[in-house]
Amino acid sequence: MTGSLGDPASPRAASYDPAASAILTVDLAALRDNYRSLRTRAGTAECAAVVKADAYGTGAERAVPALAAAGCRTFFVATLGEARTVRSVASEAVIYVLDGLLPDAAAGFAEIHARPVLGSVPEIEEWGAYCDSAGERLPAAIHVDTGMNRLGLRPEDVDALVSDSRLLDRFKPALVISHLACADDPGHSMNEIQRSSFEAARGRLPDLPACLANSGGIFLGPAYHFDMVRPGIALYGARAVNGVPNPMKQIVTLNARILQIRDAAPGESVGYGAARRLARSTRIATVAAGYADGIFRRLGAANGETGLSAWLGDHEAPIIGRVSMDTITVDVTDIPADRVARGAMVELIGQHNSVDDIADKAGTIGYEILTSLGARYQRVYIDHQEAAQ
Ligand SMILES: *Cc1c(COP(=O)(O)O)cnc(C)c1O
Repeated sequence: MTGSLGDPASPRAASYDPAASAILTVDLAALRDNYRSLRTRAGTAECAAVVKADAYGTGAERAVPALAAAGCRTFFVATLGEARTVRSVASEAVIYVLDGLLPDAAAGFAEIHARPVLGSVPEIEEWGAYCDSAGERLPAAIHVDTGMNRLGLRPEDVDALVSDSRLLDRFKPALVISHLACADDPGHSMNEIQRSSFEAARGRLPDLPACLANSGGIFLGPAYHFDMVRPGIALYGARAVNGVPNPMKQIVTLNARILQIRDAAPGESVGYGAARRLARSTRIATVAAGYADGIFRRLGAANGETGLSAWLGDHEAPIIGRVSMDTITVDVTDIPADRVARGAMVELIGQHNSVDDIADKAGTIGYEILTSLGARYQRVYIDHQEAAQ
């Protein structure tokens, strides 16, 4: 499962920094496989990749070159700062910035050949004015709102573009996009409403390549694919569509080390708030990851509650007590003593705990689990196909 890393339970597993408290492993081969499978689903549409929020916590500097190697040419980020990171590792890529154009930011886009996704008339005016001053019609996308009410042109803004052709003549419109609000729910009536208002808006604009589908949108079928699709979450292995099995490969594994092991007596309490009182003699392992590392406090277990489980191989170690900033405490009483060693790794995300499982337990979505992954982890990138050579 962890390829060249050896047994993750071993404190001396190869390539682990002995001082690393927790190790996040990202499988780049699985990321590429996910990209290829989404591209196949998208048929003739180009498959772009959304790599905002540091490629959903997996590390854009490694994820972007891996995706480019699988044939991805177009990347979407949220901010110009993220676009700079993508440009530093993908000199040829087309990069769109979903936040659009902030006042006075145009030169920053031009400098790295990034394209703003323009979502209001003032943004369009400002990009046009910058192009005039630069003496060049620079490319940008146009974002029409079809029901999110977050970013993008409202129908009356599209009217303004139609009545004043000068607005679109000063730059090079290269793509028209919109964003689905309910793509994770294939039965939702909003999907078709948004698809048809996207068609209507497109019909009023110059003939441009069109892009509507996020990950969930790809699974809604060919009517949603248009000329380009732009998946995020499905690339990173978490659930894009509710209520059906998730066909994507998991790409992240999180292992954290046991710092200490102790035996406590019935009646003693564990952790903050003395929220968990022990009903039996309990062997407690303290594991080096906490809420500052993205292990949400909701995953703890006070008296009567069930929270996250850690795993030592196939042995389950349920969390007991609250999640601390830097640690959790797990019950290892029923696990063979030779498996439970100071410095050993326990699995927090992996074979036994998918990102989706953890999201469900924490009452959130896989997106939030991935983008909350901590900055303190040692990050290890594996690539099975390379390792096999
Ligand atoms: C984040 C985002 C995406 C990617 O969505 P996923 O559900 O992760 O596939 C696509 N388009 C826009 C506008 C976004 O903000």
